[in-house]
Amino acid sequence: MYDVNSPHADDFIDNGEVLESLKFANDNKNNVELIDKILEKAKKGNGLSHREAAVLLDCEIPEKNEEIFALAKKIKQDYYGNRIVLFAPLYLSNYCVNGCVYCPYHAKNKHIPRKKMTQDEIKKEVIALQDMGHKRLALETGEDPVNNPIEYVLDSIKTIYSIKHKNGAIRRVNVNIAATTVENYRKLKDAGIGTYILFQETYDKQRYEKLHPTGPKHNYAYHTEAMDRAMQGGIDDVGMGVLFGLSTYRYEFSALLMHAQHLESVYGVGPHTISVPRIRKADDIDPNTFENGIDDDTFAKIVACIRIAVPYTGMIISTRESKKCRERLLELGISQISGGSKTSVGGYANNFNESDEDTSQFDVEDRRSLDEVICWLMELGYVPSFCTACYRQGRTGERFMDICKSKQIHNFCHPNALITLKEFLNDYASEKTKKVGETLIKSELLTLESPKEIKEKTALYLEKIDNGARDFRF
Ligand code: SF4
Ligand code: SF4
Repeated sequence: MYDVNSPHADDFIDNGEVLESLKFANDNKNNVELIDKILEKAKKGNGLSHREAAVLLDCEIPEKNEEIFALAKKIKQDYYGNRIVLFAPLYLSNYCVNGCVYCPYHAKNKHIPRKKMTQDEIKKEVIALQDMGHKRLALETGEDPVNNPIEYVLDSIKTIYSIKHKNGAIRRVNVNIAATTVENYRKLKDAGIGTYILFQETYDKQRYEKLHPTGPKHNYAYHTEAMDRAMQGGIDDVGMGVLFGLSTYRYEFSALLMHAQHLESVYGVGPHTISVPRIRKADDIDPNTFENGIDDDTFAKIVACIRIAVPYTGMIISTRESKKCRERLLELGISQISGGSKTSVGGYANNFNESDEDTSQFDVEDRRSLDEVICWLMELGYVPSFCTACYRQGRTGERFMDICKSKQIHNFCHPNALITLKEFLNDYASEKTKKVGETLIKSELLTLESPKEIKEKTALYLEKIDNGARDFRF
């Protein structure tokens, strides 16, 4: 039975509750009165329940859908302004014992070369990432207790944080590794990770078990309860996500929000981020896996409705999506994107291009360089940010959410974005990007709404960056 506070996945993602929510949404998709009531509640910016959000997702009334999109844009603007945080994935190893049928790293795939980076290779990879201008990484590795034990991940984190090349530094390492024990989560916390990321893939238990036929990941409960163990291990920033296309999107949407409500209710803090990957073609993937694929319009509606339902949770989109698609989703709610990504092991140092990426996890649609992505964002009116300040300033978990809810986060995000963008412009940008960026910083300084003291310090820090100093933050 549905119980938001239960420690058991089958209760907090109760299948009956998901199905009833879907029925409720379908029954009310043309109910103007109810939709108006939900929109009124959403305008207060305190989020929605999964049932309410499901009604908006199903809504078929064109004028109301326009209101939904407009509200998503407004919430995005109110909470995140025009800033977009940049990150890059770093693939450590593609050894994996699991059998996920939608991923080319599955254990039975014999045509993909297996590779695990040594600490020396990681060092080269990190230098290549630093030379692009990245400050924030998401570590990725397959599940393999022999090849990729927790000690390997911890050593790699230590290596990454230790490398200071020219003005480069990786200041935040987020970690996306398989579900593990409370003890291992504690070790990750002690290693100084930012967010622990784990995608649910699908919340539909029957589909989940079918799509994960072998390996430890087959255990639905152990996987779904991983965020609870991460929280118990002291990690209070967790990143969730589903792989849209594995089951019906309505099911995933409601269940994802139920999961977020569970974390908020039990631990006082919901997910730090939600990622919205869509399934993509890759080596040795069963084409039947794509039967639930979603089109761009549905995808945009999902992003808008998540933005409205959980305003304080950052939303992430990767280079799986095209430039055009990313552009549309940015204004609807996305606050973080990857740029210049390689989804293969060793892809950065070796500068793999598409045909070289024989160890890649999935096809990348957006193959522009980081510099090109930065310039594109600025030309669209966004402020690219390499900020990693919050967790380094102890603003994590509940403390972070409190600052978000009181809308004070702007006071930090905006100046931090300008300072870190300035570093990028001075150290890594092309002439064209630098020119666009300098003009942008000047005009953004005029709109800075932070307290006077922060404004003055921002101007001072920008000056100091021109004189060679680095790593200022609020
Ligand atoms: Fe392994 Fe992750 Fe790929 Fe599954 S999705 S096969 S766990 S790397
Ligand atoms: Fe993210 Fe905090 Fe930086 Fe804002 S100040 S961009 S919330 S790390």
